[in-house]
Amino acid sequence: MVLVGALPAPPVSARSHGPPRKVPIDMIVIHSTGGPTCDTATGQPVWIKAGPLEDDLRIIGTHPVLGIHYMIDRDGTVRGSVPEDQVAYHVFTYSQRSIGIELVNDGDGVDPFPEAQLQAVTALIRDIARRRGISREGVKRHSDLDRRRMSCDNSRPRKVDPGAAFPFNAVLEGAFREGN
Ligand SMILES: [Zn+2]
Repeated sequence: MVLVGALPAPPVSARSHGPPRKVPIDMIVIHSTGGPTCDTATGQPVWIKAGPLEDDLRIIGTHPVLGIHYMIDRDGTVRGSVPEDQVAYHVFTYSQRSIGIELVNDGDGVDPFPEAQLQAVTALIRDIARRRGISREGVKRHSDLDRRRMSCDNSRPRKVDPGAAFPFNAVLEGAFREGN
C-alpha cells in the first residue's frame, strides 16, 4: 500500500475501525509502506518512500477508505490500527478474508528489512496463524494478489510490495517452524 502524504489534517478522533467481517479469515497479507504510484500532478509514475511509522499510521487511520490491522516499524515495534475482527481495506478483492500487515520499508527491493523488524513480523504471523488457523499457503505478499498494471504506465505492475528485499520464504520458515 502506498500512502501519499498530501491528505488533509486528520480529525481529532482517528478512524481506526472497519465494518464487521462477513467471511472467515484465512489469509495474512504483507505490505510495505513505500511503493510506486501515479503522481496526480504529472501523470507519471513516482516512487513513494517509507515515512515515519507515526505519520503513516495516522494517515491510514484517518483515510476515508483504506485501513490496516498492524504496522511494524524498522525497530520491530508493532502497532495495531483496525481490530482483526473488522475489515480493513488494504488489498484489492481479498480484504474481507484477510489480515493486513504493513512494514515500514521503501518496498523497492533495495531498502533492507532490519533483523528486529523481521523477527517482529515472524512472531506476529505465527501468533495470528495459530489463533486463526491460517495455513502457510494463506500468507501472501501484496504483489502475489494484485496483478493489475499501473494506470499511468501499463508496462509496470501496480503493486510490487513488500519487494524483493523481503525474505518471504525465510519469514514463513520461522513463522511455521514447529515448537516455537
Ligand atoms: Zn501493499
